[in-house]
Amino acid sequence: MSKFFAGKYKNLEAYVPGEQPRDMKYIKLNTNESPYPPSKETIDAVKNENALMLNLYPDPTCRELKRVLGGRYSLDAENVFVSNGSDDILNFAFMAFGENGVIFPDISYGFYEVFSELHNLPYKKIPLTDNLEINVEDYKNAGKMIAIANPNAPTGILLSLDEIRQILKTNTENVVLIDEAYIDFGGESSAALLEEFDNLLVVQTFSKSRSLAGARLGFALASREIIADLEKIKYSTNPYSINRLTLAAGIAAVESDKYYMDNAKEIIKTRDYTKNELIKLGFSVTNSFANFLFAKKDGIDGKTFYEELRKRGILVRHFDKERIKDYNRITIGNPEEMETFIKVTKTILQEASK
Ligand SMILES: *Cc1c(COP(=O)(O)O)cnc(C)c1O
Repeated sequence: MSKFFAGKYKNLEAYVPGEQPRDMKYIKLNTNESPYPPSKETIDAVKNENALMLNLYPDPTCRELKRVLGGRYSLDAENVFVSNGSDDILNFAFMAFGENGVIFPDISYGFYEVFSELHNLPYKKIPLTDNLEINVEDYKNAGKMIAIANPNAPTGILLSLDEIRQILKTNTENVVLIDEAYIDFGGESSAALLEEFDNLLVVQTFSKSRSLAGARLGFALASREIIADLEKIKYSTNPYSINRLTLAAGIAAVESDKYYMDNAKEIIKTRDYTKNELIKLGFSVTNSFANFLFAKKDGIDGKTFYEELRKRGILVRHFDKERIKDYNRITIGNPEEMETFIKVTKTILQEASK
């Protein structure tokens, strides 16, 4: 730390991204990326984007991208916000709507706490139940901004639209942010509730189901007023947060939506296969509606399992947090990768039982 660093940031604990090691080639099941490449249309759109134009700023209004996203979710372009990854949007949303405090589950996406700390917002973590589920009652009449990942991460457990409706109904004076990074893997988007509720902010990303983690693109759906607030923050920080190549990729990705939604279906199938195999091996696995599984097994410590996999070229995500340290989060790769993962898991269990 330099002696110049602002006092208010001295104790800040930054988010720790999943490792991206370069020492050898791993089967990467640790950061919930898609195992599938972007669609041909998306790749062509990037290739056809004229690099000679990179001397010019991109469209700060992102008009065309908002138009196609609006079409995809049956909303007007004015109900759509886009920025450089959904982390960017979460940051803006905490700045814009968290002044009177924020609540979120104790086990959830790590950035909610980081942004609360960064902006010095009063926040409270609401414990998940013993089954690692969100108890909807805990979020009624909160009187504060609410942030919920649905499905939740890293458990993958999903709330129904009816449960979300109950939260929205009793929180009309504060924003309810539903982070739908994993919604395309079997959940139903709360976007369907936007007509009913002006306190709902739905956040999604192109990083998971749309195979564009490297392009950095996220979007939000909400009332025109909430979107205008987010635009105000964006224009007060970085109006050109989406570059020309990513804009082109994003538009083409929405236009080739079927390719991505079909991939999501494949991932669901592979998830079901992997889950069944893990259960056969004696693991407990949460009921995940995401592109990952959250699993533990009696007799093998979570950290040890992570390390044994790593030695054998497979990366998963282990969290040191006390409540979930027995678990690992395993991203669903392609079928061959998951077969290898199961095979290696069997070897590790056999060796551990010797
Ligand atoms: C991956 C993830 C994000 C971040 O997505 P980006 O668009 O890549 O910034 C946001 N929320 C949750 C719950 C995630 O898992």
